[in-house]
Amino acid sequence: MALFQPADHDDLAAFLRDLAPEIPVFPMGVGSNLIVRDGGLDAVVIRLGRGFNGISFDGTRVICGPAALDAHVARKAADAGLDLTFLRTIPGAIGGAVRMNAGCYGSYIADVFVEAKAITRDGEAVTLTAEDLKFAYRSSELPDGMVIVEVALEATAGDPEDLHQRMTDQLAKRDATQPTKDRTAGSTFRNPAGFSSTGKDDDTHELKAWKVIEDAGLRGHTLGGAQMSEKHPNFLINTGGATAAELEDLGELVRKRVLKHSGIELQWEVLRVGKR
Ligand SMILES: Cc1cc2nc3c(=O)[nH]c(=O)nc-3n(C[C@H](O)[C@H](O)[C@H](O)COP(=O)(O)OP(=O)(O)OC[C@H]3O[C@@H](n4cnc5c(N)ncnc54)[C@H](O)[C@@H]3O)c2cc1C
Repeated sequence: MALFQPADHDDLAAFLRDLAPEIPVFPMGVGSNLIVRDGGLDAVVIRLGRGFNGISFDGTRVICGPAALDAHVARKAADAGLDLTFLRTIPGAIGGAVRMNAGCYGSYIADVFVEAKAITRDGEAVTLTAEDLKFAYRSSELPDGMVIVEVALEATAGDPEDLHQRMTDQLAKRDATQPTKDRTAGSTFRNPAGFSSTGKDDDTHELKAWKVIEDAGLRGHTLGGAQMSEKHPNFLINTGGATAAELEDLGELVRKRVLKHSGIELQWEVLRVGKR
């Protein structure tokens, strides 16, 4: 595995143009939705840092670099009286949020997405619309090796104080229900119902991944250093020293047992990349 950290758009485009076409590239956000297998990644990892983390405003439009953290974007938008509060508790960066159609409490990137600028694997600059990306629950169809370099989001207006208060409440709710202090990659499996928590009263738990895992008796189940969280059974935890294989094998064991118990085939939400 090699690492490339471009200084800016031109640097990235030139690098991709010059890189031998058979060498795969893997754009990395902050890795909050990844299990990198123990054999490592057979690709050049593109890590976007400074030079890609700007946040600016044009009326109700928020223009973000892909390396801007979701939480930071939510806070800066709230300061400007713009509601992107759903991003506050998601521990990733904006490039990863677009790729994963990140969402929380019933709102998703797809709801606020205007367009993204990206560099193709050949080093060509393109503009992507929502139609190009075909957003679905926790996914998009971003072509392999394409690197998002700028994202425009459209936010609704709100009172800054109310928006900050809503985010404080969301953080407290998350700390109460999820293992936020443990090492995890967030929700391990997609909810079989096809959407995240809406936070509304009529939101049923029957087709939530955590519920079907719990019903199969797997809350707290361990394999080596890997564990399905006691606090929230859809969170796969590294209790310390777990190998990537242990984490993935525990996930596969959960999928098999849930299928046997309830006939539901859980789909991974966490991306597993690299060689075992
Ligand atoms: C505690 C915890 C809670 C979480 N809660 C939520 C939640 O409520 N809602 C939710 O949706 N997710 C949640 N997640 C999952 C995760 O935070 C999101 O999927 C997040 O959007 C991933 O962003 P990232 O920057 O970490 O991306 P990474 O994990 O680094 O990468 C994810 C994917 O995005 C691609 N990618 C990243 N940056 C770029 C780029 N610039 N160009 C092209 N492709 C790129 C990568 O190649 C990879 O395919 C949670 C995770 C954790 C650990």
